[in-house]
Amino acid sequence: MANYLGPVCRICRREGVKLFLKGTRCMTEKCAIERRSYPPGQHGQNRTRVTDYSIQLREKQKLRRMYGVLERQFRGLFRRAERQPGVTGENLLSLLERRLDNVVYRLGFAQSRRQARQLVTHGHVLVNGRKSNIPSMILSVGDVVELKDKSRQLLVVQAALDAAEAQGVVSWLELDREACKGTLRALPTKEEIRAPVNEQVVVELYSR
Ligand code: SF4
Repeated sequence: MANYLGPVCRICRREGVKLFLKGTRCMTEKCAIERRSYPPGQHGQNRTRVTDYSIQLREKQKLRRMYGVLERQFRGLFRRAERQPGVTGENLLSLLERRLDNVVYRLGFAQSRRQARQLVTHGHVLVNGRKSNIPSMILSVGDVVELKDKSRQLLVVQAALDAAEAQGVVSWLELDREACKGTLRALPTKEEIRAPVNEQVVVELYSR
């Protein structure tokens, strides 16, 4: 699956919000949003006309880019969320949050979703004891995610675990830090995900 490989700080500046795509740098004054809080490009500081469509588009792009999902896959997830019982927007958030790369990030094995994605694609992650190198895999309650024995010694993993220790782990995941093993103990709710996005507006965009 293709992936966006361009400069990620541009994405935050475009969306006007910190999406935490770069790990620890996002917490420092080097963050591009702190230094230049206007959209990138020659016309970034021009005034733009705000329409319903532009609001919907920006919210959708924000959500998609936060999780590093390309348009086609995102649309597929939306259709899947629509077919599930319950509120479509919340189902969509739950599906995105349960992606394997995001779970690896939430467990603190990586400092960003991008780094987590790389750990997964390079074969460092086991799901229920079996190697899984598909970042878009959607996990279910009870699934166990762990790092391979050798991979636990990687410097990037150690740095990520140290950085994450103070923050703790989200309530819908259970983490055994020593064993670098996490279990999905419940489905994440909208309140627990706390994405800086109005998911209802995304639903409206795809329902046009
Ligand atoms: Fe976004 Fe992080 Fe770059 Fe700041 S440092 S603009 S939060 S990716």
